Amino acid sequence: MRNLVLILGDQLARDSAALDGFDPAQDRLLMIEAAGEAQAVWSHKARIALFLAAMRHHAAWLRAQGWPLDYRALGEHEQSDLSAVLAQALQTYAPRALVLVEPGEWRLQQAILAIAQQVGVSVQIRDDTHFLISRHEFADWARGYRQLRMEFFYRFMRKRLDILMRDGEPEGGRWNFDVENRKGFGRAGPGWVPTHQGFAPDALTREVLDEVQTRFAGHPGSLANFDWPVTREAAVAALQDFVDHRLAHFGTWQDAMWRDAPVLYHARISAAMNLKLLSPREVVDAVLSAWRQHSLPLAGVEGFVRQVIGWREFIRGIYWLDMPGLREANHFGHSRELPRWYWTGETHMQCMRQVIGQTLDYAYAHHIQRLMVTGMFAMLAEIRPQAVEDWYLAVYVDAVEWVELPNVAGMALYANGGRFTSKPYAASGAYVARMSNYCEGCRYKPDQRTGDKACPLTTLYWHFLDRHEAALAGEPRTALMVKNLARIPATEREAIRTRAQAMLDGLDEL
Ligand code: SF4
Repeated sequence: MRNLVLILGDQLARDSAALDGFDPAQDRLLMIEAAGEAQAVWSHKARIALFLAAMRHHAAWLRAQGWPLDYRALGEHEQSDLSAVLAQALQTYAPRALVLVEPGEWRLQQAILAIAQQVGVSVQIRDDTHFLISRHEFADWARGYRQLRMEFFYRFMRKRLDILMRDGEPEGGRWNFDVENRKGFGRAGPGWVPTHQGFAPDALTREVLDEVQTRFAGHPGSLANFDWPVTREAAVAALQDFVDHRLAHFGTWQDAMWRDAPVLYHARISAAMNLKLLSPREVVDAVLSAWRQHSLPLAGVEGFVRQVIGWREFIRGIYWLDMPGLREANHFGHSRELPRWYWTGETHMQCMRQVIGQTLDYAYAHHIQRLMVTGMFAMLAEIRPQAVEDWYLAVYVDAVEWVELPNVAGMALYANGGRFTSKPYAASGAYVARMSNYCEGCRYKPDQRTGDKACPLTTLYWHFLDRHEAALAGEPRTALMVKNLARIPATEREAIRTRAQAMLDGLDEL
């Protein structure tokens, strides 16, 4: 055998670089289902099912092309570890080379390289052409900056890809229209919101759902609402559904939250993108084409494009620049464990109850729910970053480490000390009250920082400022926050400390 071509569970692009030059006469494809990948973190059942269903559908497509595929399904082998199954395959086939596209996880890449070396097979790791910039090109770009900032990278990508540019200048005269986005719904609420297109599981997916329900019975989350796209065709339909029905309002309401409304105007295509069922270029092209045809608001379109060609690519570049150290980052030295209710949603905090409950039901939450509710609470509650990172990797259908870890460690928790963000994302319950209706009917009051009804986010926010006052006062983007702290009388500051300590000592009871 010339090449054994390994296709990992999040590498399901039909034009994957792994398939370049594939010769069925002398090469063979290999796909491996490994329980260990679901158990490395305590994965949500829907996340496990999504990967398995998408892999099995991709395998069917590969076979339909007439390509030789060795598919090692759960139950067909005894190993729970992907590298152990890979080692067996390498010994069986003794190929001249193991070929694969760059994995989405540093740990897995190291394990694959180690196994290949142990077995004595050379490895060819190909660039993942799904992304709009390679790891090496990103590293070259980053070398030119003392501080890594997404906004500079985004402008570089806009010019490089010639997206939303007019005569060398940004479309509409500005690079960033976020001041026009990010509105709350107000008391009236969102009103009617178009329902997203769901994808009823076909026979193959139903088989996976049954298997996950049995094999991973103790894992968190529900499969009852599983309607994710798991094929290329369904992913394309999901993209079109977003473009046709929700894109026009996406920008305005992208940060808003509302009870029992998990999707609102969000695209719901991140899982399909991270499985590589959709390419970023086609996603952006579909959005730009709708913008031109239907004169959609530039602010929302620009905000969406920024997430795809800016933030997503930037985050991946950072991941590969900063691993393995990023995984250990703990700027504030936080050491508390995650409250138990992160796995059940059973807390009196309505915002957390809503977001975690929704996460367990759908394996989905939108970016502000992740950043400003579950993520921000974890930072304010001084939770150990690695415990938070494991939770995020476990519970979301779109979670692959290259995207999850920098977002959680770098953005939500400020665990890497502002390597690519200019300030910690800290806010009081007032932010949640402004951007959602979660506070209505909550046991706590968002405007109270002391006393029995004090909102934990509010108390812990002021406690956070109090603890880090000197450091925050020295940074231009946080100096104003601590100026407000200075206006609080000493006796009340002491009461905040006392209340915060009680909350921190009893996180499970909040
Ligand atoms: Fe969350 Fe505080 Fe609002 Fe309750 S009052 S929902 S804890 S922000």
